[in-house]
Amino acid sequence: KKWVYRFDEVSTPDKMLLGGKGANLADMTKHGLPVPPGFTITTEACHAYVAAGNTLTAEMEREIDEAISALEARSGKRLGDATDPLLVSVRSGAPISMPGMMDTVLNLGLNHESVKGLARTTDNPRFAYDSFRRFIQMFSNVVLNIPIHYFERILDDAKNKHQFSGDQAVTAEVWMDVIQSYLDVVRHQTGRPFPMEPRDQLEMAIGAVFSSWNNPRAAVYRKVHQISESLGTAVNVQTMVFGNMGNDSGTGVAFTRNPSTGESELFGEYLINAQGEDVVAGIRTPSAIATLQTEMPAIYDQFVSLCRQLELHYRDVQDIEFTIERGRLYLLQTRNAKRSAQAAVKIAVDLAREGVIDKETALSRLKPEELDQLLHPSIDERVELEVIATGLPASPGAAMGQLVFDADRAEELAHSGTRVLLVRSETTPEDIHGIVAAEGVLTSRGGMTSHAAVVARGMGKPCVCGCDELRIDEEKGLCTVGDTVLREGDMVSIDGGTGRVMLGEIHLVPPTMSDAFETLMIWADEVRSLGVRANADTPEDAEKARSFGAEGIGLCRTEHMFMASDRLPVVQEMILASTHEERRDALERLLPMQRDDFYGILQAMDGCPVTIRLLDPPLHEFLPNLEELVAKQAALRTELSLRETEEVRDALRETSGLLSKVRALHEMNPMLGHRGCRLGLTMPEVYEMQARAVFEATAQLIEEGYQPKPEVMIPLVGHVEELRRMRELVERVCKEVQAVRTLTFQVPIGTMIEVPRAALTADEIAHSADFFSFGTNDLTQTTFGYSRDDAEGKFLHTYVESKVLQANPFATIDVDGVGQLVRIASARGRAEKPKLKLGVCGEHGGDKASISFFHQSGLDYVSCSPYRVPLARLSAAQAAI
Ligand code: ADP
Ligand code: MG
Ligand code: MG
Repeated sequence: KKWVYRFDEVSTPDKMLLGGKGANLADMTKHGLPVPPGFTITTEACHAYVAAGNTLTAEMEREIDEAISALEARSGKRLGDATDPLLVSVRSGAPISMPGMMDTVLNLGLNHESVKGLARTTDNPRFAYDSFRRFIQMFSNVVLNIPIHYFERILDDAKNKHQFSGDQAVTAEVWMDVIQSYLDVVRHQTGRPFPMEPRDQLEMAIGAVFSSWNNPRAAVYRKVHQISESLGTAVNVQTMVFGNMGNDSGTGVAFTRNPSTGESELFGEYLINAQGEDVVAGIRTPSAIATLQTEMPAIYDQFVSLCRQLELHYRDVQDIEFTIERGRLYLLQTRNAKRSAQAAVKIAVDLAREGVIDKETALSRLKPEELDQLLHPSIDERVELEVIATGLPASPGAAMGQLVFDADRAEELAHSGTRVLLVRSETTPEDIHGIVAAEGVLTSRGGMTSHAAVVARGMGKPCVCGCDELRIDEEKGLCTVGDTVLREGDMVSIDGGTGRVMLGEIHLVPPTMSDAFETLMIWADEVRSLGVRANADTPEDAEKARSFGAEGIGLCRTEHMFMASDRLPVVQEMILASTHEERRDALERLLPMQRDDFYGILQAMDGCPVTIRLLDPPLHEFLPNLEELVAKQAALRTELSLRETEEVRDALRETSGLLSKVRALHEMNPMLGHRGCRLGLTMPEVYEMQARAVFEATAQLIEEGYQPKPEVMIPLVGHVEELRRMRELVERVCKEVQAVRTLTFQVPIGTMIEVPRAALTADEIAHSADFFSFGTNDLTQTTFGYSRDDAEGKFLHTYVESKVLQANPFATIDVDGVGQLVRIASARGRAEKPKLKLGVCGEHGGDKASISFFHQSGLDYVSCSPYRVPLARLSAAQAAI
């Protein structure tokens, strides 16, 4: 086995074997870039070192000797030589960039003899002794684990005593004194003299790098980022070049493009007469890279062209470390640069336009989740934040407003122009108007797919949920966090991207839907085959979705329309009606309102399909809460016993009547109860009214010259007979409307597939369906037998944490179980009806991994909330590449 590779003998730079840094140094060497010579000890050696009980094996030592000899032969210098010494750096480098491991040691090879040689050959004693003290300081800190402050104190004292302005002003003589004090510290701290033999120094430094792979900091980092223990780290030993040799020397770091905006301009900093990471350490204020153009024009030009070369070679933006030694430029590291989401988009598009990468590569460079950040205003992190609690990052974006604990109050204040933040223990459909009115939502209970989270995401509203440090007392209108008490009207901010809750206002930077972003989306559309629709219930949402590129509405939930404050009373009348007459009367009043709803959405989506789902949730969701009514009844009884007035008696009678209705509608398990098409079958007049509203709106739009494309969807079908009957009803209403308007139009009628029985009997169901839309939220609930609200609040978290499940199945589709049902239903449905259209609505339609599965399963489209449309377009494109 070969343990050591010289940079110039590597033919295929393998990151796993050589680590990221080593592989890139070898690669740059191979391409003739100015890299100081050196060698890499492999990650395999790291394992062998640890296995041998933290020692270098004889074989390794021999190979290291050979490599050092090669460096000596090449430079004509010798390690530890008293006249012209070779100095090296020892640098760690794992296959994945990993903070927490051993830092770099520079200037290794110096001792009392070789420092004299260095002083003489460079004719610069100040530089030589500065290098020596730097070496002692770094080596002692990173290899001998002596805290850095011992050395800093000595340095400060020396500078104060001699009144030096900065490190560069320190003279050789003073450095000698400092070195003496440093060596005393080492002897005192370790009980041994500082190792002066260069070979010992080298072995100790190499060993320290290898051992640092297992230090606790590194282990924690690996755990958090799920990096395998088995990777190991490599060690790079490299000839030193010196940026601290005078004013014709320097060191710096640069990005080939701006990593924050993506602008194609060199971006970075450097320091003249400095070494290593002085730039990062903040000892002196570095200069912007642009001034290098005037300070060292020739070097600057060379650097610009090297940057270009590196970008072309790695086909990506580079983050480069460089050093200038007496007017000569050296590259010490290059890697693909980390960048903001905004920069990532711009850079990918620019590189493709410049012909460096193709469009497919540009598309694969981006993480779909990152696009989220580009669609919401974000927090200006330069301003200090007072974070008081942290919850789940449920819906990205930042929001601030005055606290309100109640949806009505939120609406009222918002109408009067106040920005409010709605805070609730958890939200219910009754809070919708409050969520609409609020800048953002904060809850103390509920998971990532709780009502508040789903609704907020759907609206693109920032939301932090499940923030259990928050104690909310809705009655008293206050909440406490630790010992901070917050009341209505207090200014609070949330960051839905991280889950932070902050006191006071925050500064926001607005989102920019850049040209690059639009371009990238157009490329995504060229590549993908999976359609992307949006879930939208209002014309505003529909328009937003369209502007983000949705090709239709995959799910228009009619219940949200029933929740609007002007309808809710009529809806309640309809539900509570004791006679058919009363019910018909209420429905007649609802009809024009529903018609307007559908008119608005179909108009906004002119020419694009709009899938309208008939009423789905159990009716009690539209009624007042049972407990509240019980409490109210008790209060009224007490009041009645105190004063017998007509008024109180009426109120009590009314409340008691309502209560008995609510009791009658109460269900043990509403999720599996009287909802969906089960309502349609038992109360056909409701679906009839909805169908009529759809068709009348359609007729009207056609008459006005529009091209409405409604599709009617029946929810929660489990047996074909349910669908057959509902279809009959809808078709009958359609014919009636067409007859009256003397018009003909086709309206596809389909169903959701959201219970296992529907999936298994998809062939039968396909008889009566023009399309299937997989309602993966309910399908997941019914397949696992989990009630989502209970699961997320109670055990699902533990399941995922302890790896019973790999992921939350409500966020990412469970391919093996739920996914199998999707595949079965698709196959059986299409066997019966080859042209059957297949789509997905539900949270999974906006999840990258799930989208990839839906693409592979041959579905026609996914539907997700408007703000997720760009993510879905990109994910669908990536799935197709
Ligand atoms: P990190 O992984 O923390 O960036 P590096 O191994 O890249 O650590 O080293 C940090 C810095 O040390 C480099 O950016 C460079 O400035 C300096 N350095 C490392 N090796 C050499 C060398 N052979 N000559 C000069 N400077 C070096
Ligand atoms: Mg570093
Ligand atoms: Mg580095």
